[in-house]
Amino acid sequence: MAKAKGDIFVDIEKCKGCELCMVACTQDSLSLSNSINKKGYHYVVRIKDNCTGCVNCALVCPEGIIKVYRKVDGKKEQVAALTNVKKDMTLEVS
Ligand code: SF4
Ligand code: SF4
Repeated sequence: MAKAKGDIFVDIEKCKGCELCMVACTQDSLSLSNSINKKGYHYVVRIKDNCTGCVNCALVCPEGIIKVYRKVDGKKEQVAALTNVKKDMTLEVS
């Protein structure tokens, strides 16, 4: 069976470079950038094109800044998004 094709979006200006998402990624898809964001943190970037859309990274990110997408029937759909991390945190996974 073919592996699911996933993709992520990281709000890099809010990343604190804690590396939790890197540890959680089973595909070793993530790494810290050599560059820094406006807050002075090295932010996470995807370094390989092997993301499966497993949502592990979004689940562990304490800042709730990772959105995960999966290709379903050729269409890219968002499958995980954390919101209201500082208040009543919600997680939607489809
Ligand atoms: S969705 Fe899964 S495979 Fe893709 S970057 Fe996040 S942890 Fe890695
Ligand atoms: S878990 Fe979130 S804050 Fe930590 S490095 Fe990954 S994207 Fe940045």
